Amino acid sequence: MGGNDDLTLGALFKAGSRQLAEAAKGDPLKSPHLDARMLLARATSTDDHRALIDPLHRVASADADVFKDMIARRVSGEPVARILGEREFFGLMFELNEATLVPRPETETLVAKVLQELGERGLLEANLTIADIGTGSGAIAVALLTELPAARAVATDLSYEALQMARINAARHNVLDRLLTVRTDTGDAVAAPLDVIVANPPYISDAERKDLPLEVRNYDPALALFSPDQGFGHIRRVVDFSQKTIAPDGFAIVEHGYSQSERVGQIVKKAGFKRNECVLDMAKVPRFRCFGKKVT
Ligand code: GLN
Repeated sequence: MGGNDDLTLGALFKAGSRQLAEAAKGDPLKSPHLDARMLLARATSTDDHRALIDPLHRVASADADVFKDMIARRVSGEPVARILGEREFFGLMFELNEATLVPRPETETLVAKVLQELGERGLLEANLTIADIGTGSGAIAVALLTELPAARAVATDLSYEALQMARINAARHNVLDRLLTVRTDTGDAVAAPLDVIVANPPYISDAERKDLPLEVRNYDPALALFSPDQGFGHIRRVVDFSQKTIAPDGFAIVEHGYSQSERVGQIVKKAGFKRNECVLDMAKVPRFRCFGKKVT
């Protein structure tokens, strides 16, 4: 990139996406064109289709420098969501900081399952109490509150910085008046009885650390990823907590790793829950456990 002719959306997009494509070395999981479009849109305060429909649009050289810097960060392995400081989840933008996990698309299925379940029971407008254990950016709690107009949620986390982010995201989506944040390890101080308990807790074992993609290992907070007891430590605590706090008709849904379904089922059964259902993610991988004191 250089020279004045290169200061157009089209030229910058072409140069940036080429650099990202070279760095991707054919990895089918990388998306150089999409990444370049999103970064260019941010750097130039345009929307992410503009480079395609209006390639001759002139770009200020300061904005072009911002874009080149973003491309360099991406080439060095930093995820787009970290560079932008935000990520879309369930159709909503969530601001992120170093204490928060980047919300994952799998977790949207957890939100959808809760809404489906409540819809079937005619409870979408009900005055429900929800707990989101280990809320991080607040993704799950905030997404649920935007869909459930009379519900309130308690969101817990061990990290103050994460809870601050959850509050910022709740305010951004106009649900802060219905969200209480509590700094606690799994949640003693939460108002029982709870109608819905949701959690995407840390569930990766130390042994799996070396197998993680660098974008996860180097950029997601360790506190949000790793759990003792071969990855089951936090899940156990969420199950125990649910045992003490869930309403008689309530239900809990907890996310877990792709190979953990059977063991989580045993933990839930041992805790005495009658309902103990495996839920698949959109790739048909067993990813969530739904449980409660009654079968349905
Ligand atoms: N609940 C948050 C999410 O799903 C954070 C999860 C975590 O940090 N383990 O994004």
